[in-house]
Amino acid sequence: MSLFMSLDCPHCMVSHSPFYIHKIVVTSTTPSRSDRDRSSTYTFDASGVCGPCGRMVVAGFKGRCLAPPALEKSAGDLSGTAKFQGHHADLEIVFQAPSPAKPSAPEHLPPPILRAYLDAEKAYSQGIWNLAAGGYRKAVDRAVTPLLSEEAKGKMLGPKIGMLEKTNLLPPAMLDWIRIVKNDGNFALHDDDHDFDSREEIEPAREFAFTLLTYLYTLPEKVRRAQGLPKEEGSTP
Ligand SMILES: [Zn+2]
Repeated sequence: MSLFMSLDCPHCMVSHSPFYIHKIVVTSTTPSRSDRDRSSTYTFDASGVCGPCGRMVVAGFKGRCLAPPALEKSAGDLSGTAKFQGHHADLEIVFQAPSPAKPSAPEHLPPPILRAYLDAEKAYSQGIWNLAAGGYRKAVDRAVTPLLSEEAKGKMLGPKIGMLEKTNLLPPAMLDWIRIVKNDGNFALHDDDHDFDSREEIEPAREFAFTLLTYLYTLPEKVRRAQGLPKEEGSTP
């Protein structure tokens, strides 16, 4: 019977992915002090291969069970309650290597912008380049809309860049960043024949989106807080 453990995969980003266990090594055994309880607390390392992507991780566990050989023969989900020789044992994940990457974003973004950016980052980390490029465009679109008048709402990003140009709010170089993010997003979503095939192709859009959001939201909020002013309404902690 194959053994598996359920972990968040750092490679393909699947949550609770089934990892088929190759090897378990018991690293410590602590017998129970009670005469009536014959179970011991074990720590053990398990190496496994992710079902969806085939990449490997090592995870350390700590838990109670009746006998160490049971670990070798056990079947079940090692991430939570596992069955060892028919008994349940509570297991705790002590470490995981590589650890699951958490998508990150510039600080203090308003929630709709944060959501779009994190969605793009998640797609980026999974290698779904077209989805990532579309996500960066959406994040940038949402980021610049509040700078414009009501009539910008509902318009595409292209006309918004034209309106931004007239406001002189952003330096020309920054408008070029936005154009690159827009063009990559349009290409990803609308081109009939071509797709993005590599990280390098969308790296500029990712970098410009990050820098623009940092400039527009993170830095002003940091300044507000450094001046002791209350946080901007709608900004995240
Ligand atoms: Zn995986």
